[in-house]
Amino acid sequence: MKFLKCKEVSNKIKAKVAIIGAGPAGLTAAGVLLCDGIEVDVFDMLPEPGGLMIFGIPEFRIPKSGVREGVKELKEKGVNFYLNTRIEDSEKYDINFEEIVSKYDALLLATGAWEPRKMNIEGEDLSGVYHAAPYIVSYYLVKFGYKDSSILPRLGKSVAVIGGGLTAVDSALVALESGAKDVYLVYRRTRKEAPAGEKEISSLESKGVKVVERKVPVKFVGENEKLKYMITVDLTLGAPDHTGRPSPIPLPGTEKSFEVDSVIVAVGGKSTPPFKKNKLGIEVSEDGRVLVDQKKRTNKVGIFAAGDVESGPSLIGPAVKSGIDAALSIKEFLISRKWK
Ligand SMILES: Cc1cc2nc3c(=O)[nH]c(=O)nc-3n(C[C@H](O)[C@H](O)[C@H](O)COP(=O)(O)OP(=O)(O)OC[C@H]3O[C@@H](n4cnc5c(N)ncnc54)[C@H](O)[C@@H]3O)c2cc1C
Repeated sequence: MKFLKCKEVSNKIKAKVAIIGAGPAGLTAAGVLLCDGIEVDVFDMLPEPGGLMIFGIPEFRIPKSGVREGVKELKEKGVNFYLNTRIEDSEKYDINFEEIVSKYDALLLATGAWEPRKMNIEGEDLSGVYHAAPYIVSYYLVKFGYKDSSILPRLGKSVAVIGGGLTAVDSALVALESGAKDVYLVYRRTRKEAPAGEKEISSLESKGVKVVERKVPVKFVGENEKLKYMITVDLTLGAPDHTGRPSPIPLPGTEKSFEVDSVIVAVGGKSTPPFKKNKLGIEVSEDGRVLVDQKKRTNKVGIFAAGDVESGPSLIGPAVKSGIDAALSIKEFLISRKWK
């Protein structure tokens, strides 16, 4: 995957830019900024750049070697990577957010959407109930030898994945790869409405995953703090909701127990800026997105945002486009030297 967006690096702009987050948005922005000779420092809390392209998405969809080659080129041309470095608005993390802001001419926030959206039902904190993104990231950290397998709880023989998007599909694949024999994809609408699309769902079925439509867990039941089974209800589909898809309506009296060893909840994520709400007056929406204008500028001069941290959970293509737009806007800002 090519992140560098030019053949030759020039010395046009003398400035130093920090990028927090080395996913597709941050890496693409780095590749645009570097072309004009801007000094680019990229910070990431993980041990390898790539974000979810390395630590979330399966090989058959995004080959890791392509991402690694693109990163290698950025390094060779001069981008500095600071890995295993978490930037947060708290002394307990590696670098404090305000410290970064004070040291650079401009800053790009590209930290993605890593906070899992919870179902907010009883028993969700039991051992045996996992949230997709953190579980999958741990899975790849172990798979690539960055962490010991003790960080990864065993899923057991039967696993229910809750959700119908690509994250749910990838969770089911991780469950299969981990040795689960019975894997269920439990989705509240029908497969026709599943955001992952029919091709991905059929492909899962061909690997043995059972697709369970119009069903949702309403409670996770445990014994000694460990999941024993979940209680589900059946759903019927009503009038379209704000997404344009039919709204799932619970059918009273259809509660049933569904026995599984573990559950992976894959019902979405929330943007994760590297600071608490209202830090330095940077505007953040109710659901955690960093608010930007068309040029990816936050309301704080010199601070920009790109990718899932400003859009909410999305896809690689839009994150790449957002990274390019933000980098072009940063260049414009640096040239006009409006830094205050
Ligand atoms: C399991 C899963 C499967 C997916 N499958 C697909 C797919 O098949 N196709 C597709 O197009 N999209 C897919 N997506 C969505 C896609 O991965 C994202 O939309 C895209 O990666 C967003 O890019 P980004 O650069 O904004 O953020 P990310 O790729 O999330 O990168 C953010 C980076 O910021 C770092 N970071 C976060 N907080 C901090 C901090 N405080 N300090 C330092 N570093 C920090 C993270 O370590 C990470 O490397 C999937 C998502 C998931 C969760």
